[in-house]
Amino acid sequence: MKEKKHIAILGSTGSIGTQALEVIAAHPDYFEVEVLTAQNNADLLIQQSIKFKPNVVVIVNELLYDKVFEALDPHHIKVFAGERALASVSQMDSVDLVLTALVGYSGLLPTIKAIEAGKPIALANKETLVVAGELVTSMAREKGVNIYPVDSEHSAIFQCIVGEFENKIEKIILTASGGPFRGKKRDELVNVTKAQALKHPNWTMGAKVTIDSATLMNKGLEVIEAKWLFGLKPEEVEVVVHPQSIVHSLVQFQDGSIKAQLGLPDMRLPIQFAMTYPERLKTDFERFDFTKYPSLTFEQPDTETFRNLALAFEALKRGGNMPCVLNAANEVAVEEFLKDKVGFLEMSDIVANCMAKTSFVANPGYEDYVATDRETRIRAAECIR
Ligand code: MG
Repeated sequence: MKEKKHIAILGSTGSIGTQALEVIAAHPDYFEVEVLTAQNNADLLIQQSIKFKPNVVVIVNELLYDKVFEALDPHHIKVFAGERALASVSQMDSVDLVLTALVGYSGLLPTIKAIEAGKPIALANKETLVVAGELVTSMAREKGVNIYPVDSEHSAIFQCIVGEFENKIEKIILTASGGPFRGKKRDELVNVTKAQALKHPNWTMGAKVTIDSATLMNKGLEVIEAKWLFGLKPEEVEVVVHPQSIVHSLVQFQDGSIKAQLGLPDMRLPIQFAMTYPERLKTDFERFDFTKYPSLTFEQPDTETFRNLALAFEALKRGGNMPCVLNAANEVAVEEFLKDKVGFLEMSDIVANCMAKTSFVANPGYEDYVATDRETRIRAAECIR
């Protein structure tokens, strides 16, 4: 019998983590859960651990350690707490693949640690590559570690280039749904509420990425993510709005041929492919039916209304620590929007302000990213006061 793949899921209680466990539950002969981690959701972490029997779990919020320990000790599951445990847990010998499904900047250090230990990464935490793409990809190259994209657009591109690794990509075209406010102008968006912004037309996702989708920052972050994953120049990445979310992205090769990957919007597919590459396992997911989608449409993104996308391209072109600034300012802006402290359009103002004022570092190392992140968060908070 084939050896099972032992998976560490960093962030198992979020949207990606729970869907990854659905994939694992559907293929019990293929996967074994080795590690689960959660920030605060102790109840779900306990429930998942009793069902999937990981070797180790980490609850990042140390105040919840006793609760998780008491629930899992009778099941002979080792329990650790805190940021440090989260960063180092994926380095265990028994881990074959690390799924990083943490939200935001918090994913950076655990991903770096996993790469240091030579573990292949299924990357759902796009902010890791936005913040420190150069550092993370060069470390992965040095260690011979593969990074498999989980983000649906990047999975689409990856699926298009399987078997084409030697062929030059002329450009990639990332599709964007356009979010709930597609077609709206700035004056119609001034009073948007978080409830409206949290209603995504096609995808069910966590709050952070859903707000980022409504502002098009998500696509901006994905442009930067794609640059690093596929070794492209900024001008080789384009965005097209495709409201049906069926074509998940496209690759144009140097002979002019374009390949696309299609399917219903269901994150379980890219999650599964990242965990099983190069194999494709049979699924019972709903199949795409052309008669239900008589037209697939494409249009230019409106970067005057959705300034975040233009700001992300600017950060990518300026390089250095600018994408890190963009990301930190945006994380603060989204957090405050979710607390009704800033308006929908003001989120872009905060990002633009931070990009204009934070000191530029051309060739940042890890410590520079940490400092830039900290400095930007302070500046962003000042913009709000
Ligand atoms: Mg995506």
